[in-house]
Amino acid sequence: MVSEYVIVTEGLTRTFGAFQAVKGIDLQVPEGVVYGFLGPNGAGKTTTIRMILDLIHPTAGKVYLFGESFDRSAWQRLAKVGTLVESPSLYPHLTGHENLEVLRRLLDLPKAAIDRVLRLVGLEEAGDKLVRQYSLGMQQRLALALALLNEPTLLILDEPTNGLDPSGIQEIRTLIRDMPKTTGTSVFLSSHLLSEVELMATHVGIIQQGELLYQGELAAMKKRWGPVLRVSVDRPAEAAAALSERGWKIRSNGNGLEVLSVDEAAAGEINRALLQDGFQVRQLHLHQASLEEMFLELTGSAGGAA
Ligand code: ATP
Repeated sequence: MVSEYVIVTEGLTRTFGAFQAVKGIDLQVPEGVVYGFLGPNGAGKTTTIRMILDLIHPTAGKVYLFGESFDRSAWQRLAKVGTLVESPSLYPHLTGHENLEVLRRLLDLPKAAIDRVLRLVGLEEAGDKLVRQYSLGMQQRLALALALLNEPTLLILDEPTNGLDPSGIQEIRTLIRDMPKTTGTSVFLSSHLLSEVELMATHVGIIQQGELLYQGELAAMKKRWGPVLRVSVDRPAEAAAALSERGWKIRSNGNGLEVLSVDEAAAGEINRALLQDGFQVRQLHLHQASLEEMFLELTGSAGGAA
C-alpha cells in the first residue's frame, strides 16, 4: 500500500437492507491536500465518511488510513484524525476556552494547545465568551478548534459550512483551504456544492447514487469541463472555421458555437476577431459547467470514472 495517500478505500460498499447506499468505491486521497468529496444530497457521502471513521462497518471493501488497513490497532491511527461529522456537541453554558479545556484534560495535552487552536480558528478574542452567545459560524469554528486540539495529521469534515451565514462561510473556507500549509494537515471534506469545493479543494471525488464517477485534481476537472464561451453568431459554421484558423479550440453547439478553454479577456479578443472577419455577433456568454452538467456527462459517458 502506497502511504503517500492518507485515505484509500477499495471496493467500499454499504447496503441498508436491499438499498445500496455506497457501491464499491475506490478513493485515493493524497497526503498534504484538501480533497473535496462532492455529490448531491443522499449520494452516500456521510455513509462513506462514517465507514472511513469506523463508525459503521462496510458491507464489503476495505479502508486504509495512512497506508494501513483497519484492525485492532485502528484507534491509534484514528487518534491522528480530527473530525467534524455530526453537528458539534458543545457545552453552551461554558466558554469556548472551557469547552477546549474539557477535551484538553481528557487528551492530557499541554495548556498551550488551547491558545494555539483558538488562534488558528480566529477565536482568541472570544475564548472567554459563553458558547451560547456564539454565532453559528463561531460555534463551527470552535468545533474545528476541538478537532484540531490533538494536532491531527488528517481532518475529516462532513459539510463543514452547512448552515453558516456568508461571512462565517468565508472564514471557514479560508481556514480549511490553508490547513495543509499552516498546520501540515490533510483535509477530506464533503459538500453538495461545486462552487464551494472549488474555493477550498485542490482534489475532488464526485459521487452520485453511491458511485464514484470522477476522481482527480480539480485543475484537470476544470480543464475538462470548461469554462467555455458560448457564441451566438450568423453563419456559425464559417465563424467556427475562422476561429479555428486563429488557433481557438471550437465545439459546435446546435446553431451556435462554443470556444473552449477561455477566460474573460479572451471574450473581447474573440468578439473583435469575429467582427473583423465580417460576422455579426449576437451574444457572447462565458459558461462554467455546473455540477449537474458534469453528472449528466459522466453518467451519459461510457466507463464512468476518468
Ligand atoms: P446528505 O448530503 O443529504 O447528507 P449524503 O451524500 O451524505 O447526503 P448519505 O447520508 O450517506 O448521503 O445517504 C445515502 C443514502 O443512504 C440515502 O438514500 C439515505 O437515505 C440512505 N441511508 C443512510 N443511512 C441509512 C440508514 N441508517 N438506514 C437506511 N438508509 C440509510
